[in-house]
Amino acid sequence: MRNSLHIKVVGIMLLLILSLMLVLSAFLSRGVARFYLNQFYSQMRTAFADTEFVGELRSLAAAENGTELLTDLLNAYSGELGIEKGTRAYYLLDGETGRLLVSSDGSAELEISPNIVTALSGTEGSEASLFSGYMDVALPFSGGGHRYVICIRDNRQTSAALTREMLTIVIEALLVGFLISVLLSFLLAKTMVRPIQRLTGAARRLSEGDFSDRIPVRAEDEIGILTHTFNDMGARLHDTLQEIESERNKLSAVFLHMTDGITAFSADGILLQFNPAAERLLDRSLNEPGLRYDDLFGDLLPMEEILNRSGGEAASAELKTEHRSLDLFFAPITADQTDGRILTVIHDVTVQRRSETMQREFVANVSHELRTPITNVRSYAETLVDSGSEMPEETVRDFLQVILSESDRMTKLVQDLLVLSRFDADEVEFRMERFDAADSVRRVYEAMRLDAGKHGLKVSAALPASPAWITGDRARIEQVIINLTTNAVRYTPEGGTIEMSASEADGEVRLCVRDTGIGIPAEDIPHIFERFYRVDKARSRAMGGTGLGLSITGEIVKRHGGRIEIESEPGVGTQMTVVLPACPAAAAEAEDGTV
Ligand code: ADP
Repeated sequence: MRNSLHIKVVGIMLLLILSLMLVLSAFLSRGVARFYLNQFYSQMRTAFADTEFVGELRSLAAAENGTELLTDLLNAYSGELGIEKGTRAYYLLDGETGRLLVSSDGSAELEISPNIVTALSGTEGSEASLFSGYMDVALPFSGGGHRYVICIRDNRQTSAALTREMLTIVIEALLVGFLISVLLSFLLAKTMVRPIQRLTGAARRLSEGDFSDRIPVRAEDEIGILTHTFNDMGARLHDTLQEIESERNKLSAVFLHMTDGITAFSADGILLQFNPAAERLLDRSLNEPGLRYDDLFGDLLPMEEILNRSGGEAASAELKTEHRSLDLFFAPITADQTDGRILTVIHDVTVQRRSETMQREFVANVSHELRTPITNVRSYAETLVDSGSEMPEETVRDFLQVILSESDRMTKLVQDLLVLSRFDADEVEFRMERFDAADSVRRVYEAMRLDAGKHGLKVSAALPASPAWITGDRARIEQVIINLTTNAVRYTPEGGTIEMSASEADGEVRLCVRDTGIGIPAEDIPHIFERFYRVDKARSRAMGGTGLGLSITGEIVKRHGGRIEIESEPGVGTQMTVVLPACPAAAAEAEDGTV
């Protein structure tokens, strides 16, 4: 197979030589035959045109022993007639009966040829035929009432021998030609077949994805041009494939890492492709063979409905899973929808929905929180106006006191909301400084002690001997301690105790407020930092709480790189610990510039 072209070239050359030789030999043998034929008849014409010879024939025919005399004459003229043993002979026949009288080759029988028949009828028979086995000429002559026919016949042995000889030469030439054709085919293979084989090999390697091959161009002939073109084609193919590959890589990187989920379905609804985001968002494995559109989205929107939409318009639906809200967009993959495939884009809108809900709840909460004090202020003020001077002075003062405290509540609420909105907008500036957090606990303790006492609570503070340095906004950290202590006072019944402490260990400063109050149920603990979240709304409101204190506290601690730890048991008490990164002494000194 490898050398099939080579074999074909040898075969074609052989066929060429063979046919050439056949034609040549046919022409040659025909030429030889014709040459001998022409030569024979021209010799015969010359001999029979010799008047002396013909005259002698006639005069001898008249003699009594004409046959012997004629035989002698013919023997004497055998040179002129080309008589030769084995190839050419003369025959003397009786002109009347056609009986053979004498023959030079001693044969007793003679096949009567058309020329003899012609001569027996009285005219010279010299019809030539290329295709008969012999050539002859027959001449009638008479003398003294005796009629004779002389026939010269050549059995074409000479021409056949020459033809045979020529055929032998042709066959020998054929063999030589074969050898030459084999040699030539090698030469041809070197110049033609081998470059083609090289091209074939390179093309095969190209089809297997090996683009490194560049075939050297050895000649600027057609094969050279083909090789050039092939090399160019390989290079361009390589570049194009690389471009496609890099585009594909980019696309698959986008496909793999995009946050939106993608799923593609075949016309019969089988899941063909999906990206990791799709599995994550749908919260299930999609790597199940034969998973169908109907298994995933059939309940939301039947596949036919998507395919039947006019203009290939995308359809959308919302899917709520246990943990997520998902917006789904369904679109036929091709614009003309011919193959009926469907592409689904899954967009996670959980955060959006949550924030929308939170926003709605927030507005509802703010309105609700403001409505109560406004209603109170209005009703007390109305009562005051309606009763005029009839109301006792003490009651008027009480009413005004209520109006004042409700106004304070509203002011506090608005202030807290403002602080939170500044946190949200990242507009809060911190005046960072190094300070002793234990000292801040002490200051809050001093400030709160009296108020707590008024509520029948015992407050104590356990402070370390050495300072607990931290870096932060002193006023805001003290605000945090105030908030925690205020809550402890608010939610601890009379007779309870509140313990405040500050300590430093393992690079952390811990500021703790512990009470023996009502405690927080475990299920409420994760929510108490949410805005307006209150375990006991009535109590919180009665105590002047807004439900925003811990939200602000959480924001401040978070922005100081700290955390709040909560331990609480309903009916036993609550311990809230603010944990902040300590500012090591060396760092503190460096900050102070005292080193
Ligand atoms: P409030 O203004 O209502 O106190 P906070 O944000 O400060 O709002 O606290 C949220 C809720 O957490 C309170 O309503 C209360 O139910 C609960 N809470 C906070 N601190 C304590 C505590 N020390 N003991 C019991 N419950 C507490």
